[in-house]
Amino acid sequence: MLARWMESEVRLVSRDQLAAGARSGGMSRAMAIAGETVGSTAIFTVLSRLPPGLRSSPHVHTNCESSIYVASGQGRMLTGANLDRALLIQPGDFLFVPPGAPHVVVNDGDGDLVLVVSRNTSEEQVEDYLAPHERLPDQRKAPFAKPLLLDRCKTCRTPIRGPLAIVSRLRGIHSYGKNPQLCTRCETSIRGSEDRVVTILFADIRGYSRMVSEGPNDALLSVLRGFFNTAAPVVYDSFGVVDQFLGDGMKVLFNVPVPRVTHTEDAVKTALTMQERFSDASFGVGIGVETGMALAGHIGVDTVVDFTCVGETVNLAARLQSIAAPGEIVLGPTAWRKASALLDERGLTAAAERMELKGFGEVDIHRLATRKPPS
Ligand SMILES: [Zn+2]
Repeated sequence: MLARWMESEVRLVSRDQLAAGARSGGMSRAMAIAGETVGSTAIFTVLSRLPPGLRSSPHVHTNCESSIYVASGQGRMLTGANLDRALLIQPGDFLFVPPGAPHVVVNDGDGDLVLVVSRNTSEEQVEDYLAPHERLPDQRKAPFAKPLLLDRCKTCRTPIRGPLAIVSRLRGIHSYGKNPQLCTRCETSIRGSEDRVVTILFADIRGYSRMVSEGPNDALLSVLRGFFNTAAPVVYDSFGVVDQFLGDGMKVLFNVPVPRVTHTEDAVKTALTMQERFSDASFGVGIGVETGMALAGHIGVDTVVDFTCVGETVNLAARLQSIAAPGEIVLGPTAWRKASALLDERGLTAAAERMELKGFGEVDIHRLATRKPPS
């Protein structure tokens, strides 16, 4: 709270002084006139920003009403109990969102969708919302986040969902199965196969075989569903490709088929976000990450050809995952070197260890603990 002597003066909140508010899916909120910035007690203005191709999560505000001005961008506000009514929104429009009204904000344009939001509470309470037909019978709120699918390919911006996708479909372009945020045109950017530097991430559920022997089948199924439904969208959002679902784990590729300079960081961010999302889960997850050369491309025999990556880097990443404790991310030497700036930035330290790994000799690994293993 600010000093009393300032209370009779006009206060400026410059763009770099905005406080961060709650996120909803792809939508970020920055608090302008608020208790946090100027000690406002009755008026609260927030800037919501949604990058192109993204949408907010379905949500409700439980404790406030909002008046919204569309400052820039093009999009839709999905509303109604089933989120099946779309209001087209454009700059100059105003919206009113009463408390408890489910909604999703979608950006269909090429630039940021910027909303100026005025609301009547300092501490906004946002709850994720599931439409009635998406709920399980005994479930009011989903235990895990649903995948957040974009209307446009995250790389080339081709519409793959929503009304504009019809044109793409006529051209034979669809969403890509291994990352539904990308399109099939981007998938085929590698023809045949080639040697590529890639980052490989393996993640799996720790103690799964014990759960199999102890737990009832439906409990097991809900653990698996929770794992995949939570982990896959994290991968998709970081340009990763879920190459294989492996029973109790997954194999994820970065830098293919869409090249990304920051592929190692993408993978490490994915690993960190996964561990964060699973920090309250009833199970632990072990993750291994390594960067290096692999054969990438459409590999297979005759009719069974699939886009994948094979090679020593892939095998090493799998080995690293196998030695990761619950809540741990084990980085190979190259992944650690390429992600060390990111880890420094986040104030994270990884314990270095030299380990004899069968088939690889002595390998310098780094263990990044993200939570205490469950007792
Ligand atoms: Zn694309």
